[in-house]
Amino acid sequence: MRMMAKLASAIALGAMVFAGAASAQEKGTVGVLMPTKASARWIADGDNMVKQLQERGYKTDLQYAEDDIPTQISQLENMVAAGVQTLVIASIDGTTLTDGLQQAHDKGIKVIAYDRLIRNSPNVDYYTTFDNFQVGVLQAQSIVDGLKLESEAGPFNIELFGGSPDDNNAFFFYDGAMSVLQPYIDSGKLVIPSGETGMDRVGTLRWDPAVAQARMDNLLSSYYGDKTVNAVLSPYDGLSIGIISALSAVGYGSGDKPMPIVSGQDAEVPSVKSIENGQQYSTIFKDTRELAKVTVDMIDAIGQGKEPEVNDTKTYNNGEKVVPSYLLKPVLVTKDNIKPVLVDSGYYTEAQIQP
Ligand code: BGC
Repeated sequence: MRMMAKLASAIALGAMVFAGAASAQEKGTVGVLMPTKASARWIADGDNMVKQLQERGYKTDLQYAEDDIPTQISQLENMVAAGVQTLVIASIDGTTLTDGLQQAHDKGIKVIAYDRLIRNSPNVDYYTTFDNFQVGVLQAQSIVDGLKLESEAGPFNIELFGGSPDDNNAFFFYDGAMSVLQPYIDSGKLVIPSGETGMDRVGTLRWDPAVAQARMDNLLSSYYGDKTVNAVLSPYDGLSIGIISALSAVGYGSGDKPMPIVSGQDAEVPSVKSIENGQQYSTIFKDTRELAKVTVDMIDAIGQGKEPEVNDTKTYNNGEKVVPSYLLKPVLVTKDNIKPVLVDSGYYTEAQIQP
């Protein structure tokens, strides 16, 4: 009897494995292109995408390009040649993928731009991301709060950093932030001693922390001989860490020289620890599990011949068309809400972010 039961369950298991394999076969392979492993957020994005795709019966081909544009172009072309079912692409330079996308389109492969808009191509079917303008608004709002701009007389000195000029998001972050900061700059409550504004002056190519650190070093030695910097707008945690290193090197964060209010983005572990230690002031949490979920929902809908759900059809013009988008909500994190936002949601364990 026990033998029979064992046999029956082995057959059932075999059938399940077979059914799983058959459905992966039917559903095909999803090609996932990510920019770099240099930043933890993209590793989390890739892991979440693979996990959720596999749970829903897809095969996956996940590739990172180490921020090298030709590598990403050839990864794309190879995936198209291999005949993936759908492509999910977080681009390095959103303007460089046009040829590969044309090849994808010619083969009937749908393309989802993941987090970063792909520009100058009509062959981008959907876009999943966070409300990028709102990211900038929240970053700047944290500076307004951190400096108590509403109640303090000021003036306060601030320097501005932007993201990579080849990443469409960088402009949204900057514009969102400036929508909050500009009135204070106009009224003189915020002063930019370097005078450097605008993405062409403050952008940071490839989001490189070393570039931001070197620029902060320069700003400090050129403009702050007899002045104190009170705040730094930083669009990404990696840059914030570089900026804080430059500040620490000249004594900020010790003695009677408090660390300026420094913003960030992505809630990466070193920055969460830095916030707990009172160095970085804020970051923006973008739940990559949610981004993966809406992206996989889209892939499912496409596979079933249905229209994927979108919630924005006006904001993201890529130079060729307005790409239908699904925008998620970014969340501001400061010392006050690390636990409810990052730990209680299961994104990090308490131990992972222990300073
Ligand atoms: C993403 C940010 C990230 C930045 C640097 C942007 O496109 O939206 O979350 O901080 O790239 O990797």
